[in-house]
Parts: sequence; structure tokens; C-alpha cells
Amino acid sequence: MNLMKIILYALIVYVIYTVFKIFRIANKAKKSSAPPRIQPGVMVKDEICNTYLPKEEAIKEIHEGKEYYFCSEKCRQKFLEKSRSSTPSDS
Ligand SMILES: [Zn+2]
Repeated sequence: MNLMKIILYALIVYVIYTVFKIFRIANKAKKSSAPPRIQPGVMVKDEICNTYLPKEEAIKEIHEGKEYYFCSEKCRQKFLEKSRSSTPSDS
């Protein structure tokens, strides 16, 4: 019976466990203290469903000189329908 060996193994496991725990806590703290990955200025609003989305993912539509952004082609179509019906444009 090699009790010393068992104690030594237990100690090694304990040390590894403790180091792992400290590492995890440190990692967690690092994550929570980091600023959220939202880049201000590149978020645009979808006027149809009132959601914000990254500019590069949005569908751009220029209507009467103004830029509009949409999350999907569906929202863009909805906007075009809405603007068409609200502004009388019979020539
Ligand atoms: Zn939308």
C-alpha cells in the first residue's frame, strides 16, 4: 500500500483543479469587463419592424433623397408599398 503516492496524486489533482478554477475565474472576469462588441455608428434602423441591424447586413433603399435600411427584402417591399400609397404619385 503506497499511501504517499495516493496523497501525492490527490495533491496534484487538487493543484490542477485549483489552477483551472483560477484560470476560469480570470477568464470570466476578463470577458465581463470587456466592452460589448457593438460598434456605434454602424447600426441602422429598420423602419418597418423597428429593429436595429448592422449597416453591412442591411438592405439600402434611397427614397426621396433619404437613405433607408431594411433587415430583409420583405421589409423593403413593405416600405415601398407604404410610401407608394401614402404619397400620391399620379403623373
Ligand atoms: Zn425588418
